[in-house]
Amino acid sequence: MNVPLVLSHFLDRAALLYGDKKAIIGDDKVLTYLELNGRVNQLSNGLRDIGVKKGDKVAYLAPNSIEMLEGFYGVFQLGAVIVPLNIRLKPADYVFILNHSESKVLFVDQELYHLISPVKDELESVEHIIVHYKDEEINETDYNHWLERYDNKCFNRESVDENDVSSLLYTSGTTGNPKGVMLTHRNNYLHALGAMHHFRVNDRDTYLHVLPMFHVNGWGAPFYYTANGATQVCLRKTSPEMIFDALQKHKVSIMHMAPTVLNSLFQYYERNVPNIEQDIRIVVAGSAPPPAFVTRVEKELGWEFIQIYGMTESTPVSLISLIRSEFDDLPEKEKYRMKAKAGYPIIGSEVKVIHDNGEEVAHDGVDIGELIVRSHGVMLGYWKNEEATSQTLINGWLHTGDMATIDENGNVDIVDRKKDIIISGGENISSIEVEGILYEHPDILEAAVIAVPHEKWGETPHAFIVPKMGVELTEDDIKAFTREKLAHFKSVTSVSFVDELPKTASGKIQKIHLRNDYWESKGKTGRFV
Ligand code: ATP
Ligand code: MG
Repeated sequence: MNVPLVLSHFLDRAALLYGDKKAIIGDDKVLTYLELNGRVNQLSNGLRDIGVKKGDKVAYLAPNSIEMLEGFYGVFQLGAVIVPLNIRLKPADYVFILNHSESKVLFVDQELYHLISPVKDELESVEHIIVHYKDEEINETDYNHWLERYDNKCFNRESVDENDVSSLLYTSGTTGNPKGVMLTHRNNYLHALGAMHHFRVNDRDTYLHVLPMFHVNGWGAPFYYTANGATQVCLRKTSPEMIFDALQKHKVSIMHMAPTVLNSLFQYYERNVPNIEQDIRIVVAGSAPPPAFVTRVEKELGWEFIQIYGMTESTPVSLISLIRSEFDDLPEKEKYRMKAKAGYPIIGSEVKVIHDNGEEVAHDGVDIGELIVRSHGVMLGYWKNEEATSQTLINGWLHTGDMATIDENGNVDIVDRKKDIIISGGENISSIEVEGILYEHPDILEAAVIAVPHEKWGETPHAFIVPKMGVELTEDDIKAFTREKLAHFKSVTSVSFVDELPKTASGKIQKIHLRNDYWESKGKTGRFV
Protein backbone atom coordinates (compact mmCIF):
# COMPACT_ATOMS: atom_id res chain seq x y z
CA MET A 1 0.00 0.00 0.00
CA ASN A 2 1.25 3.48 -0.79
CA VAL A 3 2.20 5.60 2.19
CA PRO A 4 0.76 9.10 1.79
CA LEU A 5 3.52 11.72 1.67
CA VAL A 6 2.39 13.76 4.65
CA LEU A 7 4.60 16.15 6.57
CA SER A 8 4.04 14.67 10.04
CA HIS A 9 6.31 11.80 8.94
CA PHE A 10 9.31 14.08 9.24
CA LEU A 11 8.83 14.66 12.96
CA ASP A 12 7.75 11.04 13.59
CA ARG A 13 10.98 9.88 12.05
CA ALA A 14 13.10 12.31 14.05
CA ALA A 15 11.37 11.39 17.34
CA LEU A 16 12.02 7.72 16.63
CA LEU A 17 15.63 7.98 15.50
CA TYR A 18 16.92 11.03 17.35
CA GLY A 19 14.59 11.32 20.39
CA ASP A 20 17.18 12.61 22.87
CA LYS A 21 18.98 14.84 20.45
CA LYS A 22 18.56 18.61 20.58
CA ALA A 23 15.85 19.45 18.05
CA ILE A 24 15.64 23.17 18.55
CA ILE A 25 17.56 25.78 20.47
CA GLY A 26 15.58 28.95 21.13
CA ASP A 27 16.58 32.17 22.87
CA ASP A 28 15.81 30.81 26.32
CA LYS A 29 14.84 27.16 25.88
CA VAL A 30 16.03 23.94 24.27
CA LEU A 31 13.84 21.01 23.23
CA THR A 32 14.86 17.47 22.31
CA TYR A 33 13.00 15.74 19.52
CA LEU A 34 10.92 13.77 22.05
CA GLU A 35 10.02 16.96 23.92
CA LEU A 36 9.14 18.70 20.69
CA ASN A 37 6.99 15.77 19.67
CA GLY A 38 5.22 15.89 23.05
CA ARG A 39 4.39 19.59 22.73
CA VAL A 40 3.25 19.05 19.16
CA ASN A 41 0.83 16.35 20.38
CA GLN A 42 -0.46 18.75 23.02
CA LEU A 43 -0.98 21.41 20.39
CA SER A 44 -2.90 19.11 18.03
CA ASN A 45 -5.05 17.87 20.93
CA GLY A 46 -5.68 21.46 22.01
CA LEU A 47 -6.61 22.62 18.54
CA ARG A 48 -9.08 19.75 18.14
CA ASP A 49 -10.55 20.59 21.54
CA ILE A 50 -11.30 24.16 20.51
CA GLY A 51 -13.04 22.98 17.37
CA VAL A 52 -10.37 23.04 14.67
CA LYS A 53 -11.11 20.44 12.01
CA LYS A 54 -9.32 19.07 8.99
CA GLY A 55 -9.02 21.79 6.35
CA ASP A 56 -9.50 24.67 8.81
CA LYS A 57 -6.98 27.51 8.61
CA VAL A 58 -4.70 28.27 11.57
CA ALA A 59 -2.68 31.49 11.29
CA TYR A 60 0.66 32.31 12.94
CA LEU A 61 2.06 35.77 13.53
CA ALA A 62 5.41 35.02 15.11
CA PRO A 63 9.13 35.53 14.63
CA ASN A 64 11.41 32.51 14.30
CA SER A 65 10.80 30.65 17.52
CA ILE A 66 10.23 27.25 19.08
CA GLU A 67 6.49 27.98 19.13
CA MET A 68 6.48 28.54 15.41
CA LEU A 69 8.13 25.17 14.74
CA GLU A 70 5.62 23.51 17.09
CA GLY A 71 2.89 25.18 15.08
CA PHE A 72 3.99 23.61 11.83
CA TYR A 73 3.73 20.03 13.03
CA GLY A 74 0.80 20.56 15.42
CA VAL A 75 -1.32 21.92 12.59
CA PHE A 76 -0.22 19.28 10.05
CA GLN A 77 -1.05 16.33 12.34
CA LEU A 78 -4.62 17.54 12.46
CA GLY A 79 -4.86 17.95 8.70
CA ALA A 80 -5.47 21.66 9.25
CA VAL A 81 -3.79 24.33 7.11
CA ILE A 82 -1.12 26.66 8.45
CA VAL A 83 -1.21 30.31 7.36
CA PRO A 84 2.09 31.93 8.35
CA LEU A 85 1.92 35.73 8.41
CA ASN A 86 4.69 38.11 7.54
CA ILE A 87 5.57 39.96 10.75
CA ARG A 88 6.35 43.24 8.99
CA LEU A 89 2.88 44.06 7.67
CA LYS A 90 0.43 46.73 8.81
CA PRO A 91 -2.71 45.94 10.86
CA ALA A 92 -4.91 46.46 7.78
CA ASP A 93 -2.87 43.83 5.87
CA TYR A 94 -3.54 41.31 8.64
CA VAL A 95 -7.26 42.03 8.41
CA PHE A 96 -7.08 41.36 4.67
CA ILE A 97 -5.09 38.11 4.94
CA LEU A 98 -6.89 36.69 7.97
CA ASN A 99 -10.32 37.36 6.44
CA HIS A 100 -9.26 36.26 2.97
CA SER A 101 -7.78 33.01 4.28
CA GLU A 102 -10.80 32.47 6.60
CA SER A 103 -8.45 31.68 9.47
CA LYS A 104 -10.21 30.25 12.51
CA VAL A 105 -7.39 30.48 15.06
CA LEU A 106 -4.61 33.04 15.33
CA PHE A 107 -1.45 32.38 17.31
CA VAL A 108 0.37 35.61 17.94
CA ASP A 109 3.62 36.46 19.61
CA GLN A 110 3.26 38.84 22.54
CA GLU A 111 5.60 41.38 20.98
CA LEU A 112 3.45 41.48 17.85
CA TYR A 113 0.08 41.55 19.59
CA HIS A 114 -0.13 45.34 19.22
CA LEU A 115 -0.48 44.80 15.46
CA ILE A 116 -3.65 42.79 16.00
CA SER A 117 -5.32 44.43 18.99
CA PRO A 118 -6.49 47.58 17.13
CA VAL A 119 -8.20 45.52 14.42
CA LYS A 120 -9.56 42.60 16.44
CA ASP A 121 -13.16 43.58 15.76
CA GLU A 122 -12.59 43.47 12.02
CA LEU A 123 -11.49 39.82 12.01
CA GLU A 124 -14.48 37.96 10.59
CA SER A 125 -13.46 34.34 10.91
CA VAL A 126 -11.01 34.26 13.84
CA GLU A 127 -12.66 32.51 16.81
CA HIS A 128 -9.61 32.15 19.05
CA ILE A 129 -6.53 34.25 19.64
CA ILE A 130 -3.75 32.52 21.56
CA VAL A 131 -0.71 34.50 22.66
CA HIS A 132 2.85 33.20 22.99
CA TYR A 133 4.51 34.64 26.16
CA LYS A 134 1.56 36.25 27.77
CA ASP A 135 1.95 39.25 29.99
CA GLU A 136 -0.64 40.55 32.42
CA GLU A 137 -1.80 43.37 30.22
CA ILE A 138 -2.87 41.10 27.40
CA ASN A 139 -6.23 39.58 28.07
CA GLU A 140 -6.01 36.59 25.75
CA THR A 141 -5.36 32.86 26.14
CA ASP A 142 -1.80 32.13 27.24
CA TYR A 143 -0.22 29.53 24.95
CA ASN A 144 1.90 27.70 27.53
CA HIS A 145 -0.89 27.42 30.12
CA TRP A 146 -3.34 26.37 27.48
CA LEU A 147 -0.97 23.70 26.12
CA GLU A 148 -0.44 22.16 29.57
CA ARG A 149 -4.05 21.05 29.68
CA TYR A 150 -3.57 18.53 26.90
CA ASP A 151 -2.12 15.04 26.54
CA ASN A 152 1.42 14.95 25.23
CA LYS A 153 1.70 11.20 24.74
CA CYS A 154 -0.44 10.61 21.75
CA PHE A 155 -2.70 12.23 19.29
CA ASN A 156 -5.34 10.36 17.36
CA ARG A 157 -4.44 11.39 13.83
CA GLU A 158 -6.93 12.44 11.22
CA SER A 159 -6.47 10.66 7.94
CA VAL A 160 -4.58 13.16 5.85
CA ASP A 161 -4.06 12.71 2.12
CA GLU A 162 -0.89 13.85 0.41
CA ASN A 163 -2.95 16.01 -1.94
CA ASP A 164 -4.60 17.89 0.93
CA VAL A 165 -3.54 21.51 1.29
CA SER A 166 -1.04 21.85 4.14
CA SER A 167 -0.25 25.53 3.92
CA LEU A 168 -1.52 28.78 2.56
CA LEU A 169 1.46 31.05 2.02
CA TYR A 170 1.01 34.64 0.98
CA THR A 171 3.62 35.85 -1.56
CA SER A 172 6.15 38.52 -0.60
CA GLY A 173 4.16 41.34 -2.17
CA THR A 174 7.31 42.59 -3.93
CA THR A 175 5.27 43.48 -6.99
CA GLY A 176 1.79 44.16 -5.61
CA ASN A 177 -0.82 42.63 -3.30
CA PRO A 178 0.23 39.31 -1.77
CA LYS A 179 -1.52 36.26 -3.20
CA GLY A 180 -2.42 33.13 -1.18
CA VAL A 181 -0.48 30.15 -2.56
CA MET A 182 -1.95 26.71 -1.79
CA LEU A 183 0.75 24.09 -1.25
CA THR A 184 -0.15 20.46 -0.59
CA HIS A 185 1.59 17.98 1.72
CA ARG A 186 2.98 16.31 -1.40
CA ASN A 187 4.35 19.62 -2.74
CA ASN A 188 6.21 20.30 0.49
CA TYR A 189 7.28 16.69 1.06
CA LEU A 190 8.84 16.02 -2.33
CA HIS A 191 10.34 19.48 -2.53
CA ALA A 192 11.98 18.87 0.86
CA LEU A 193 13.46 15.54 -0.32
CA GLY A 194 15.10 17.31 -3.28
CA ALA A 195 16.44 20.14 -1.14
CA MET A 196 17.83 17.73 1.50
CA HIS A 197 19.69 15.90 -1.20
CA HIS A 198 21.18 19.05 -2.72
CA PHE A 199 22.16 20.58 0.65
CA ARG A 200 23.50 17.18 1.82
CA VAL A 201 21.61 17.49 5.12
CA ASN A 202 22.51 15.01 7.87
CA ASP A 203 22.18 14.54 11.63
CA ARG A 204 25.53 16.26 12.27
CA ASP A 205 24.14 19.53 10.91
CA THR A 206 23.20 22.54 12.97
CA TYR A 207 21.04 24.93 11.03
CA LEU A 208 20.69 28.58 11.96
CA HIS A 209 17.35 30.12 10.98
CA VAL A 210 18.21 33.49 9.47
CA LEU A 211 15.38 33.68 6.97
CA PRO A 212 11.97 34.02 8.57
CA MET A 213 10.07 30.73 8.87
CA PHE A 214 6.89 32.47 7.75
CA HIS A 215 8.47 33.17 4.37
CA VAL A 216 8.67 30.42 1.79
CA ASN A 217 12.47 30.44 1.65
CA GLY A 218 12.87 29.94 5.36
CA TRP A 219 9.80 27.81 5.50
CA GLY A 220 11.24 24.66 3.90
CA ALA A 221 13.95 24.45 6.56
CA PRO A 222 11.79 22.99 9.35
CA PHE A 223 11.14 20.06 7.04
CA TYR A 224 14.66 19.34 5.77
CA TYR A 225 16.38 19.68 9.12
CA THR A 226 13.72 17.95 11.24
CA ALA A 227 13.48 14.90 8.97
CA ASN A 228 17.23 14.32 9.26
CA GLY A 229 17.58 14.88 12.98
CA ALA A 230 19.69 18.03 12.62
CA THR A 231 19.59 20.72 15.31
CA GLN A 232 17.86 24.01 14.50
CA VAL A 233 18.85 27.27 16.15
CA CYS A 234 16.23 29.99 16.33
CA LEU A 235 16.96 33.56 17.26
CA ARG A 236 13.96 35.86 17.56
CA LYS A 237 16.05 38.66 16.12
CA THR A 238 19.26 38.59 14.10
CA SER A 239 22.06 41.04 13.36
CA PRO A 240 25.47 40.31 11.80
CA GLU A 241 27.02 40.33 15.26
CA MET A 242 24.42 37.92 16.65
CA ILE A 243 24.86 35.63 13.65
CA PHE A 244 28.65 35.45 14.08
CA ASP A 245 28.15 34.81 17.82
CA ALA A 246 25.69 32.02 17.07
CA LEU A 247 28.07 30.45 14.55
CA GLN A 248 30.66 30.07 17.25
CA LYS A 249 28.40 29.20 20.16
CA HIS A 250 26.31 26.55 18.40
CA LYS A 251 28.80 25.32 15.81
CA VAL A 252 26.36 26.11 13.03
CA SER A 253 27.05 24.19 9.82
CA ILE A 254 24.49 25.58 7.39
CA MET A 255 22.31 28.65 6.98
CA HIS A 256 20.10 30.16 4.30
CA MET A 257 19.64 33.87 3.77
CA ALA A 258 18.66 36.61 1.34
CA PRO A 259 21.56 38.18 -0.59
CA THR A 260 20.98 41.50 1.21
CA VAL A 261 21.62 39.79 4.55
CA LEU A 262 24.68 38.00 3.22
CA ASN A 263 25.83 41.42 2.06
CA SER A 264 25.50 42.95 5.53
CA LEU A 265 27.16 39.90 7.07
CA PHE A 266 30.10 40.23 4.73
CA GLN A 267 30.37 43.99 5.35
CA TYR A 268 30.46 43.26 9.09
CA TYR A 269 33.09 40.58 8.53
CA GLU A 270 35.25 43.00 6.53
CA ARG A 271 35.06 45.66 9.25
CA ASN A 272 35.59 43.38 12.23
CA VAL A 273 37.12 40.14 10.90
CA PRO A 274 35.71 38.20 13.86
CA ASN A 275 38.38 35.78 14.92
CA ILE A 276 36.13 32.87 15.65
CA GLU A 277 36.15 29.16 15.17
CA GLN A 278 33.25 28.20 13.01
CA ASP A 279 32.01 25.06 11.29
CA ILE A 280 29.91 26.50 8.50
CA ARG A 281 30.00 24.30 5.44
CA ILE A 282 27.30 25.85 3.25
CA VAL A 283 25.60 29.20 2.96
CA VAL A 284 22.55 29.19 0.73
CA ALA A 285 21.25 32.43 -0.73
CA GLY A 286 18.24 32.97 -2.91
CA SER A 287 15.10 35.02 -3.42
CA ALA A 288 17.00 37.70 -5.35
CA PRO A 289 20.17 37.84 -7.46
CA PRO A 290 23.40 36.95 -5.63
CA PRO A 291 25.79 39.67 -4.50
CA ALA A 292 28.90 40.21 -6.59
CA PHE A 293 31.31 39.13 -3.84
CA VAL A 294 30.33 35.46 -3.59
CA THR A 295 33.80 34.40 -4.64
CA ARG A 296 35.21 36.17 -1.60
CA VAL A 297 32.70 34.45 0.69
CA GLU A 298 34.10 31.13 -0.48
CA LYS A 299 37.75 32.12 -0.42
CA GLU A 300 37.96 34.26 2.72
CA LEU A 301 35.31 32.71 4.91
CA GLY A 302 35.61 29.19 3.51
CA TRP A 303 31.83 28.85 3.17
CA GLU A 304 30.55 26.97 0.14
CA PHE A 305 28.05 29.27 -1.56
CA ILE A 306 24.94 27.78 -3.15
CA GLN A 307 22.51 29.96 -5.02
CA ILE A 308 18.88 28.93 -5.30
CA TYR A 309 16.11 30.34 -7.43
CA GLY A 310 12.44 29.90 -6.78
CA MET A 311 9.15 31.41 -5.86
CA THR A 312 6.40 30.83 -3.32
CA GLU A 313 4.37 29.23 -6.11
CA SER A 314 6.99 26.47 -6.52
CA THR A 315 7.53 25.67 -2.78
CA PRO A 316 10.10 27.40 -3.60
CA VAL A 317 13.37 25.99 -5.01
CA SER A 318 13.34 25.26 -8.75
CA LEU A 319 16.96 25.96 -9.69
CA ILE A 320 20.21 25.43 -7.86
CA SER A 321 23.74 26.54 -8.74
CA LEU A 322 25.58 23.23 -8.89
CA ILE A 323 29.18 22.97 -9.89
CA ARG A 324 29.24 19.87 -12.03
CA SER A 325 32.29 17.61 -11.81
CA GLU A 326 32.90 18.10 -15.52
CA PHE A 327 33.66 21.75 -14.71
CA ASP A 328 36.39 20.82 -12.20
CA ASP A 329 39.15 21.57 -14.65
CA LEU A 330 37.83 24.95 -15.73
CA PRO A 331 39.75 28.06 -14.67
CA GLU A 332 38.49 29.38 -11.33
CA LYS A 333 37.01 32.53 -12.80
CA GLU A 334 34.96 30.55 -15.27
CA LYS A 335 33.74 28.21 -12.52
CA TYR A 336 32.48 31.16 -10.48
CA ARG A 337 30.83 32.66 -13.53
CA MET A 338 28.79 29.45 -13.77
CA LYS A 339 27.95 29.64 -10.09
CA ALA A 340 26.70 33.19 -10.30
CA LYS A 341 23.91 31.89 -12.54
CA ALA A 342 20.73 30.54 -10.96
CA GLY A 343 21.71 27.09 -12.18
CA TYR A 344 20.06 23.79 -12.94
CA PRO A 345 16.67 22.30 -12.08
CA ILE A 346 16.63 20.59 -8.67
CA ILE A 347 15.64 16.94 -8.61
CA GLY A 348 11.99 16.64 -9.60
CA SER A 349 11.83 19.91 -11.48
CA GLU A 350 11.83 20.73 -15.22
CA VAL A 351 12.32 24.16 -16.71
CA LYS A 352 12.01 25.82 -20.12
CA VAL A 353 12.68 29.34 -21.30
CA ILE A 354 10.15 30.47 -23.89
CA HIS A 355 9.32 33.37 -26.16
CA ASP A 356 5.85 34.96 -26.11
CA ASN A 357 4.81 32.66 -28.96
CA GLY A 358 5.57 29.63 -26.77
CA GLU A 359 8.70 28.56 -28.67
CA GLU A 360 11.80 27.75 -26.67
CA VAL A 361 14.69 30.22 -26.85
CA ALA A 362 18.00 29.12 -28.32
CA HIS A 363 20.18 27.38 -25.72
CA ASP A 364 23.02 29.84 -26.21
CA GLY A 365 23.03 31.86 -22.97
CA VAL A 366 21.97 34.96 -24.91
CA ASP A 367 18.42 34.57 -26.23
CA ILE A 368 16.00 35.87 -23.56
CA GLY A 369 12.55 34.53 -22.72
CA GLU A 370 10.24 33.77 -19.79
CA LEU A 371 11.20 30.97 -17.43
CA ILE A 372 8.50 28.34 -16.95
CA VAL A 373 8.65 25.49 -14.44
CA ARG A 374 6.97 22.10 -14.06
CA SER A 375 7.66 20.20 -10.85
CA HIS A 376 6.18 18.36 -7.89
CA GLY A 377 6.62 21.63 -5.97
CA VAL A 378 4.32 23.66 -8.18
CA MET A 379 1.30 24.93 -6.22
CA LEU A 380 -2.26 23.74 -6.48
CA GLY A 381 -3.25 27.33 -7.28
CA TYR A 382 -3.99 30.69 -5.68
CA TRP A 383 -6.62 30.55 -2.95
CA LYS A 384 -9.88 32.13 -4.11
CA ASN A 385 -8.27 33.65 -7.18
CA GLU A 386 -9.03 31.55 -10.22
CA GLU A 387 -8.18 34.30 -12.64
CA ALA A 388 -4.61 34.70 -11.34
CA THR A 389 -4.28 30.89 -11.19
CA SER A 390 -5.26 30.44 -14.82
CA GLN A 391 -2.85 33.18 -15.89
CA THR A 392 0.02 31.57 -13.97
CA LEU A 393 -0.57 27.82 -14.35
CA ILE A 394 -0.90 27.02 -18.03
CA ASN A 395 -1.06 23.37 -19.14
CA GLY A 396 0.71 22.32 -15.95
CA TRP A 397 3.55 24.83 -16.36
CA LEU A 398 4.13 27.63 -13.86
CA HIS A 399 4.80 30.90 -15.65
CA THR A 400 7.25 32.66 -13.36
CA GLY A 401 7.18 36.21 -14.74
CA ASP A 402 11.00 36.07 -14.65
CA MET A 403 13.07 36.55 -17.79
CA ALA A 404 16.04 34.24 -18.29
CA THR A 405 18.57 32.75 -20.66
CA ILE A 406 19.66 29.12 -20.83
CA ASP A 407 23.03 27.92 -22.12
CA GLU A 408 24.07 24.80 -23.98
CA ASN A 409 24.59 22.96 -20.65
CA GLY A 410 21.12 23.86 -19.38
CA ASN A 411 22.49 26.45 -16.93
CA VAL A 412 19.80 29.13 -16.43
CA ASP A 413 20.61 32.77 -15.77
CA ILE A 414 17.86 35.05 -14.43
CA VAL A 415 17.92 38.28 -16.41
CA ASP A 416 15.24 40.20 -14.52
CA ARG A 417 11.62 40.21 -13.51
CA LYS A 418 9.51 41.03 -16.57
CA LYS A 419 8.26 44.11 -14.69
CA ASP A 420 11.75 45.31 -13.72
CA ILE A 421 13.31 45.21 -17.17
CA ILE A 422 14.09 48.68 -18.47
CA ILE A 423 13.01 49.26 -22.07
CA SER A 424 15.26 51.96 -23.50
CA GLY A 425 15.07 52.89 -27.18
CA GLY A 426 13.69 49.44 -27.91
CA GLU A 427 16.56 47.66 -26.08
CA ASN A 428 15.94 45.54 -22.98
CA ILE A 429 18.22 46.41 -20.06
CA SER A 430 18.43 44.09 -17.06
CA SER A 431 18.23 46.09 -13.83
CA ILE A 432 20.06 43.17 -12.21
CA GLU A 433 23.02 43.55 -14.56
CA VAL A 434 23.37 47.26 -13.79
CA GLU A 435 23.06 46.63 -10.05
CA GLY A 436 25.76 43.95 -10.32
CA ILE A 437 28.15 46.56 -11.72
CA LEU A 438 27.23 49.10 -9.03
CA TYR A 439 28.01 46.53 -6.33
CA GLU A 440 31.56 46.38 -7.71
CA HIS A 441 32.04 49.99 -6.58
CA PRO A 442 34.01 49.93 -3.32
CA ASP A 443 31.96 52.73 -1.70
CA ILE A 444 28.47 51.41 -2.43
CA LEU A 445 26.65 49.52 0.28
CA GLU A 446 23.38 48.85 -1.55
CA ALA A 447 21.96 49.66 -4.97
CA ALA A 448 18.65 49.33 -6.78
CA VAL A 449 18.04 50.26 -10.39
CA ILE A 450 14.64 51.13 -11.86
CA ALA A 451 13.26 52.37 -15.17
CA VAL A 452 12.46 56.09 -15.20
CA PRO A 453 10.70 58.04 -17.96
CA HIS A 454 12.92 59.65 -20.60
CA GLU A 455 11.85 62.05 -23.39
CA LYS A 456 13.98 60.48 -26.08
CA TRP A 457 14.53 56.85 -25.07
CA GLY A 458 11.20 56.13 -23.38
CA GLU A 459 12.93 54.80 -20.26
CA THR A 460 16.46 54.86 -18.84
CA PRO A 461 18.13 53.33 -15.76
CA HIS A 462 17.99 55.35 -12.55
CA ALA A 463 20.04 54.17 -9.55
CA PHE A 464 19.11 54.42 -5.88
CA ILE A 465 22.35 54.25 -3.92
CA VAL A 466 23.07 53.68 -0.24
CA PRO A 467 26.74 54.71 0.20
CA LYS A 468 28.95 53.03 2.78
CA MET A 469 29.21 54.85 6.09
CA GLY A 470 31.18 58.10 6.01
CA VAL A 471 31.68 58.08 2.23
CA GLU A 472 30.87 61.02 -0.07
CA LEU A 473 29.69 60.00 -3.54
CA THR A 474 28.34 62.20 -6.33
CA GLU A 475 25.94 61.53 -9.17
CA ASP A 476 28.78 62.02 -11.65
CA ASP A 477 30.90 59.35 -9.88
CA ILE A 478 28.12 56.82 -10.31
CA LYS A 479 27.35 57.72 -13.90
CA ALA A 480 31.03 57.60 -14.87
CA PHE A 481 31.50 54.25 -13.12
CA THR A 482 28.66 52.60 -15.04
CA ARG A 483 29.70 54.25 -18.34
CA GLU A 484 33.15 52.77 -17.95
CA LYS A 485 31.88 49.24 -17.31
CA LEU A 486 28.67 48.95 -19.31
CA ALA A 487 27.44 49.56 -22.84
CA HIS A 488 26.52 53.23 -23.14
CA PHE A 489 22.76 52.63 -23.39
CA LYS A 490 22.82 50.58 -20.16
CA SER A 491 24.59 53.28 -18.12
CA VAL A 492 22.82 55.03 -15.30
CA THR A 493 21.36 58.40 -16.33
CA SER A 494 20.36 59.72 -12.90
CA VAL A 495 20.94 58.86 -9.26
CA SER A 496 19.18 59.25 -5.89
CA PHE A 497 21.22 58.89 -2.71
CA VAL A 498 19.19 57.36 0.13
CA ASP A 499 19.84 56.12 3.67
CA GLU A 500 18.03 52.84 3.11
CA LEU A 501 16.02 50.93 0.53
CA PRO A 502 12.49 49.63 1.12
CA LYS A 503 12.60 45.88 1.73
CA THR A 504 10.21 42.99 2.32
CA ALA A 505 10.49 41.03 5.57
CA SER A 506 12.74 38.51 3.88
CA GLY A 507 15.11 41.28 2.80
CA LYS A 508 14.05 41.81 -0.83
CA ILE A 509 14.30 45.28 -2.24
CA GLN A 510 10.82 46.50 -3.20
CA LYS A 511 11.50 48.30 -6.45
CA ILE A 512 7.78 48.75 -6.94
CA HIS A 513 7.77 51.41 -4.18
CA LEU A 514 10.82 53.18 -5.57
CA ARG A 515 9.31 53.14 -9.05
CA ASN A 516 5.80 54.26 -8.05
CA ASP A 517 7.12 57.14 -5.93
CA TYR A 518 9.48 58.28 -8.65
CA TRP A 519 6.96 58.12 -11.50
CA GLU A 520 4.25 59.78 -9.42
CA SER A 521 6.61 62.56 -8.34
CA LYS A 522 7.21 63.29 -12.04
CA GLY A 523 3.46 63.26 -12.71
CA LYS A 524 3.95 60.49 -15.27
CA THR A 525 1.70 57.64 -16.21
CA GLY A 526 3.04 54.71 -18.11
CA ARG A 527 3.91 51.05 -17.81
CA PHE A 528 4.13 51.24 -14.06
CA VAL A 529 1.66 53.76 -12.70
P1 ATP B 1 5.04 38.95 -5.25
O1 ATP B 1 4.81 37.74 -6.10
O2 ATP B 1 4.01 39.08 -4.17
O3 ATP B 1 5.26 40.20 -6.00
P2 ATP B 1 7.70 37.91 -4.86
O4 ATP B 1 7.62 37.47 -6.29
O5 ATP B 1 8.94 38.62 -4.43
O6 ATP B 1 6.42 38.75 -4.45
P3 ATP B 1 8.39 35.35 -3.80
O7 ATP B 1 7.57 34.21 -4.24
O8 ATP B 1 8.91 35.36 -2.41
O9 ATP B 1 7.52 36.65 -3.94
O10 ATP B 1 9.68 35.54 -4.73
C1 ATP B 1 9.86 34.93 -5.99
C2 ATP B 1 10.66 35.83 -6.90
O11 ATP B 1 11.95 36.16 -6.34
C3 ATP B 1 10.99 35.20 -8.22
O12 ATP B 1 9.89 35.26 -9.11
C4 ATP B 1 12.21 36.01 -8.68
O13 ATP B 1 11.81 37.22 -9.30
C5 ATP B 1 12.92 36.35 -7.37
N1 ATP B 1 14.07 35.43 -7.16
C6 ATP B 1 14.10 34.33 -6.40
N2 ATP B 1 15.31 33.74 -6.43
C7 ATP B 1 16.09 34.48 -7.25
C8 ATP B 1 17.45 34.39 -7.72
N3 ATP B 1 18.28 33.42 -7.31
N4 ATP B 1 17.87 35.33 -8.61
C9 ATP B 1 17.05 36.33 -9.01
N5 ATP B 1 15.76 36.47 -8.60
C10 ATP B 1 15.28 35.56 -7.74
MG1 MG C 1 6.01 36.63 -7.36
